[in-house]
Amino acid sequence: MSEPARTSSTRPLALVTGASRGIGAAVARALAPRYDLLLGGRDTDALAELAAELPGARPWPADLTDPAALATVTAGIDRLDVLVHCAGVGLLGTVAETDADTWRRQFDVNVVAVAELTRLLLPALRAARGDVVLINSGAGITARPGWASYAASKFALRAFADALRAEEAGNGVRVTSVHPGRVATEMQRGVVAQEGGEYDPDRYLRPESVAGAVLLAVTAPDDAVLTEVVLRPTGR
Ligand code: NAP
Repeated sequence: MSEPARTSSTRPLALVTGASRGIGAAVARALAPRYDLLLGGRDTDALAELAAELPGARPWPADLTDPAALATVTAGIDRLDVLVHCAGVGLLGTVAETDADTWRRQFDVNVVAVAELTRLLLPALRAARGDVVLINSGAGITARPGWASYAASKFALRAFADALRAEEAGNGVRVTSVHPGRVATEMQRGVVAQEGGEYDPDRYLRPESVAGAVLLAVTAPDDAVLTEVVLRPTGR
């Protein structure tokens, strides 16, 4: 269980889920110069290593699919400037081969956990007139063969973001969906393995490029919200 999130720092506070590696770790590094950070994930060694590298950062370990744990670890957070949902799973398969358990696991992490964590932190986000950024995917816009359950979870995540944005605009909370194409991370390595292809990080987006889009969203002038940011690799 993590420490209560209260801090004596005067810097704003950001919580990044999925910060133990990949896009989430890059987002944490990009936000670190401006924000104190809570680093979400289950790999406590990786979180401790990143926290040691970033002043003002501390591990915030939790299994996001455990609502009781979420209630406990969010309990001390009464003001939150930025919430970035990076945690996710990418389970591929055709409709014919995807069983109910896989659908549930995909939706549990990619949708239900996001909704529950957001719900628990809404009072803190409202108090700060904060930003919620959701790392979605190109699969949240277009569903390709073999990607049904992942794409369905990301379509659902986009719908969640759109409803949240409309509901919370009056409370000063901004909501941004970020839709990257393929990004060079462990998840992409697993995706390519499931597709039977070859992992070539040079062909994909860098996690730092996605983190740049997150920074752009949370530093946008107060009169504007970046509703959706779509990134595709150029191959350059
Ligand atoms: P990754 O390298 O596999 O990292 C996934 C992160 O999610 C890890 O930090 C992991 O932490 C965390 N996580 C997973 N299940 C969790 C759980 N039950 N509780 C708490 N944390 C959990 O993935 P990534 O490529 O950085 O992906 C990040 C996000 O970007 C995902 O939402 C993904 O769908 C999206 N995205 C990725 C790509 C891509 O090509 N890589 C493209 C578009 C969108 P622990 O293992 O420490 O728990």
